Amino acid sequence: MQAASQRSSGGAAPQQGSPATANDLSLLDALPIAAAVVTRGASGVLAIHGHNRRFDDLLRNSSVGTFDELVAKCLHGEGLIAAHLRGWFEGTSSDELDFRDGDGVSGRFFRMKLAPLPRLQAEEQRCLVSVVDRTVELQAERTLRAEMLRDSLTGLPNRLAFTEMIEAANDTQSAAEDGLEHAVLVVDMLRFSRINETMGSLAGDELIITFARRLISALRAGDKLARTGGNEFGVVVSLRRGIADAMRAATRIQEVMTAPFKLGDLEIKVDCAIGLAVMQHGQEPEELFRNAQFAVKQAKQAGRPQVYEAKQASEARRRFSIETELRRALDRDELKLFYQPLIDLKSGEVAGFEALARWSHEDRGEISPSEFIPVAEESGLILALGRWAMDKAAQTLAEWDRRTGEQLPLYVGVNLSAIQVARDDIAGVVSSALRSSGLTGERLTLELTESSIVQDPGRATRVFDALKALDATVAMDDFGTGYSSLAYLQRLPIDVLKIDRSFVSAMMVDPDSVAIVRAVLSLAEALGMSTTAEGIESRELATTLATLGCASGQGFYFAKPLEAEAALEYWRSRRHCC
Ligand code: C2E
Ligand code: MG
Ligand code: MG
Repeated sequence: MQAASQRSSGGAAPQQGSPATANDLSLLDALPIAAAVVTRGASGVLAIHGHNRRFDDLLRNSSVGTFDELVAKCLHGEGLIAAHLRGWFEGTSSDELDFRDGDGVSGRFFRMKLAPLPRLQAEEQRCLVSVVDRTVELQAERTLRAEMLRDSLTGLPNRLAFTEMIEAANDTQSAAEDGLEHAVLVVDMLRFSRINETMGSLAGDELIITFARRLISALRAGDKLARTGGNEFGVVVSLRRGIADAMRAATRIQEVMTAPFKLGDLEIKVDCAIGLAVMQHGQEPEELFRNAQFAVKQAKQAGRPQVYEAKQASEARRRFSIETELRRALDRDELKLFYQPLIDLKSGEVAGFEALARWSHEDRGEISPSEFIPVAEESGLILALGRWAMDKAAQTLAEWDRRTGEQLPLYVGVNLSAIQVARDDIAGVVSSALRSSGLTGERLTLELTESSIVQDPGRATRVFDALKALDATVAMDDFGTGYSSLAYLQRLPIDVLKIDRSFVSAMMVDPDSVAIVRAVLSLAEALGMSTTAEGIESRELATTLATLGCASGQGFYFAKPLEAEAALEYWRSRRHCC
């Protein structure tokens, strides 16, 4: 390409119109960038009135060719630059124009800036045109961006790029008229951190690369893969036959992962959990991705690929907000303990009360313990809740003693979760409740479930023994619903079996349930334990259970769980009743 400077050396020669001033020329040469003075005469004709050496250099590398050609092409033609310049003189274009010169890899990128110069003649407008070659800058930006969007280990697009991939799919989905849909699959390699820890990060890297290769082999043309986390990959798939297509993709992925992976001399089996979410019209990419990640969690539990369901997610969200609000409620002492009478089935008197947590939420209303206790267990809040319940129950019973002026022939039953048994110092919690209330151990019954034994029998034995050492009574709650072995029942110091409500309430209609209750009663007798029936809802049940030899019972037939004051009143009303 020939450059204009060869003929216009120094570049200061004016081409048309009025001559440039000496001032103009020295101004141009002093500028550190390519610059020229352009004028617009009365007739609207554009002309270059001088340009500096850097302007020549710029032309030398451009496709424009000679200076004359530049003038012809850019100033007199209908091209972008001429139109922009004309517009600028008319006050309709901006002071800046980015343009490209040449196509393909040899294409160059320029930014032209325009600034007004004082008029020398009334009818002639003047403008300083500066041009910067931005090719290298843009290339660097593009390389940097490509680096930012790429996972360096696998060479795949990364998390950031995946969001853009979803966005692009969303755009095509909106534009498509053939009903083409998309789904996002999130593939989580299971046990990766264990492998990484035991075999080292190099082996871990190798595994990730091989895993990624296998993933690629499972995909169809048009599917897009990215590494979205350490051991997590994302795939955008297009669907022709709805969710079934996405499920097929998940199955293909699982199939390619069935063969063991070779790591050095070892062969290991790698499983993955796959979550799927179908793109909704106009959905935010982040939301879709989160949904697929949520489905991965479900897939881990289910052991097979799972499709995101909004209902399950909203339940999970509710659990999450319940956790936050429960924490606050505990801090503000907003929970209450209610007391359900435990009736001696022979005498009909109140033998004790079971303390049951109640939470009345200011917006959500009553939240059942069967909803918030599992949340408390999951989050660890059960430790604080359990301590609170223990203290509160002991204090209430001590308060009743004080108010009536006698040591009441009553005990209070407090529920202990398996998580408390596994993680808290139960004996410490109980003895501190006894100390601060002044009660003796036999006034307390601790209700534990079979799951506390099953998880860690050794620890359970120590806890049970410690409770007995404090003279407390130990009851096995919801008996019959867990999986404890009879051997443990025999070995552990259990005083009471509480027969689960499911057997008791079925007794009137289901002979099998009667047989189970009978069996539990004779088992308890054989092991020297007492029995309590849960969920007695009718007089018939109460008398049947009494006839069968069950020692005590609780249920709506007698009373629902009551506030402390009402519970004491209930005890009074039944004293010497029968
Ligand atoms: P649970 O320990 O088996 O308590 C008995 C549950 O049966 C109570 O439910 C009680 O209201 C209910 N119930 C009693 N009689 C009847 C009846 O005749 N019919 C029916 N349909 N239900 C009856 P609640 O209060 O909803 O408590 C549910 C579970 O939550 C409790 O089962 C217990 O496992 C747990 N829980 C409650 N409070 C606490 C607590 O402070 N700590 C711990 N760890 N768990 C608690
Ligand atoms: Mg209980
Ligand atoms: Mg129970």
